[in-house]
Amino acid sequence: MDAPASYIFMPSSLNQVNFLEPACGQSMRILGGAAMAGALLAAACRPAPAAGPVKWITGYYSAQNGVQQRPTLISSAETIAWLPQIVDGGARADTKLVSVTGAVNSPGVYEVPLGTTLGAILDKAGGVTGTLKGIHVGGPTGGVLAASKRDTKLGFEELRAAGTHMGSAQIRAIASDTCVVAYAAKLFAYLAKETCGICVPCRVGTARVQGILEGVQSQLGRDTDTAWLAELGDHMEKFSLCGFGITAPSILKTTMSEFAADYRAHIQDRKCPTGTCAPIRARRYETMAQP
Ligand code: SF4
Repeated sequence: MDAPASYIFMPSSLNQVNFLEPACGQSMRILGGAAMAGALLAAACRPAPAAGPVKWITGYYSAQNGVQQRPTLISSAETIAWLPQIVDGGARADTKLVSVTGAVNSPGVYEVPLGTTLGAILDKAGGVTGTLKGIHVGGPTGGVLAASKRDTKLGFEELRAAGTHMGSAQIRAIASDTCVVAYAAKLFAYLAKETCGICVPCRVGTARVQGILEGVQSQLGRDTDTAWLAELGDHMEKFSLCGFGITAPSILKTTMSEFAADYRAHIQDRKCPTGTCAPIRARRYETMAQP
């Protein structure tokens, strides 16, 4: 390691909010910008996601440019666990702990080499129960890949190229009787609840996307809804302040491109192709400005 100094920042494993509150005198929620917020706190700045001048204080990517502009590792026990091998023997972190859930026989946490295919990881978890429809990779803000993408390799660049990201390294097998529109609507209902609300693109964007998706799920969709969803997703990705809002649109992008037939069936044929989702809205979600 050539850097003259680096830092390891380990927040309380019990509750990061409790760790940060006494030091900064204000409450904070755990969110996608937690790493940047932690580095800001160590630099005696307000520990909240922000754009503009604070960027040069810590940099957004603390691993390269964190506290006092030195490489800073934040918060990940998995990262810390690699340190002895890296420092002693120059090892590279070449395995990843993945959490496999959903329609598999043996859900659990597995350690796999980076580069393992998603299909091989599902096989390691006992194989898929029934027929695989999709693979949700990266946690709640991760994208949903079609079953045909099971050869995609587990890697930061490979997943990004496929339209999702490593995120929390969750891999969820989605069964063939799952309505992808309802699945995406449920994810955005969760995100709209969890957003910290500091920036408008994420706070308003998650709620709007949730409303539109629930309308489509409830057979109230219009042909213009997919364009509207794409525009909202682009806006969130470009203008949100932290990784939460920046990565959430990958759900929209992947489900609308890889499961376009599900959206079409709901919007044009007014029916769910799987027959598994029920209407949850009596009226469409409308705003003054929409395509
Ligand atoms: S992107 Fe969302 S979670 Fe992140 S700062 Fe903005 S409102 Fe908060």
